[in-house]
Amino acid sequence: MQITHVDVQAYSLPPASPWEDATNRVGRLEFLVVELQTRSGLRGMGLSYTVDIGGTAMLSLARDYLANLVLGMDARDYERIWERLNRQSRRLGLGLNSMAIAAFDIAVWDLIGKSTGQPLHKLLGGARDSIPAYISEINLSAEDRVEDLVARIADYRDRGYGAVKIKVGKEDFAEDLERVARVREALGPSGRLFVDLNQKWSASEAIVKAPQLDAFNLGWIEEPLLYNDVPGHAALRRAIRTPIALGESLYSRHQVLEYLRADAVDIVQADVAFVGGITEWLKIAHLAQAFGRPVAPHFMMELSLHLLCGVPNAFMLENVIGGSLTELGLLEEPIAVVNGIGVPPDRPGHGIVLNKAALKPHELTGERARAAFMGGSK
Ligand SMILES: [Mg+2]
Repeated sequence: MQITHVDVQAYSLPPASPWEDATNRVGRLEFLVVELQTRSGLRGMGLSYTVDIGGTAMLSLARDYLANLVLGMDARDYERIWERLNRQSRRLGLGLNSMAIAAFDIAVWDLIGKSTGQPLHKLLGGARDSIPAYISEINLSAEDRVEDLVARIADYRDRGYGAVKIKVGKEDFAEDLERVARVREALGPSGRLFVDLNQKWSASEAIVKAPQLDAFNLGWIEEPLLYNDVPGHAALRRAIRTPIALGESLYSRHQVLEYLRADAVDIVQADVAFVGGITEWLKIAHLAQAFGRPVAPHFMMELSLHLLCGVPNAFMLENVIGGSLTELGLLEEPIAVVNGIGVPPDRPGHGIVLNKAALKPHELTGERARAAFMGGSK
């Protein structure tokens, strides 16, 4: 299954609804799309993304450097391909290169699925046929009133969701407490509620504030501290009853392992695009399993669906409002969560078929990146 042709493109578009959390206002999602073709004409597609920044850098890394490395390789050799891409790019550190590698790796797995007639979730282990999903909100703008939030929760419940994640991290902690209390009330005692700080708090601030959230029986508190503060998370975890979730800002199994060894995380949220694709994500899921921790991958809903149905220690699927490929209108066939349950497509490979005509107007160029970038970090 020799790879004989590589196509690399990138696209930039705003989320389907405005996004704002405690530390960021998001303007654009930038998607990298890699298509690999084999000698027999089989095509596999992989994608990755950045939020707001780095899309053109990821595109040139993939197109001008990495693409040549996979030409001539056997697509069945996913470990050999991943190692080659990683060895060549590791001088860049972590992040941009693992994000670019992800698009190649995911395309490789898509090819393996298509060549064997197997859907991705079966290739990854086939641990289950479906996975419960939660609604993930990114709406912490000053204009968003508690009444608006409560009305949206009622809508999610009507759509069959029993689990919701909201953003917190207001300057005035009383506002956070009010939002959490009102949503807890709206969800009822059986509803699952998660909160996300997006690394807003300092360690000393968290030790004071986080215990006050214990009363709301939260499913988790997400990224309370800076992504690299392993001892801070470990200390916080010992001080509160609420589980800690994190992983979306980690880029390798080694970084996740540090958190697991330090007993600093309860739910591992590694993002398949950020860690370098399915090959690395699987290792992370298995590491987490060895430590008795579930996984709940960040974002990438349509791909995470397969990952979660593949591995035994799956927790829940994140469906970010305004962020799935389906909601962005980029798919030929939508992959939707119905009644709060995600079911992966049974087509060979990942079954994600991009609508080229819908993508075309969003093609990413340097000029477009410069015009759209607004520096939304708070
Ligand atoms: Mg998050």
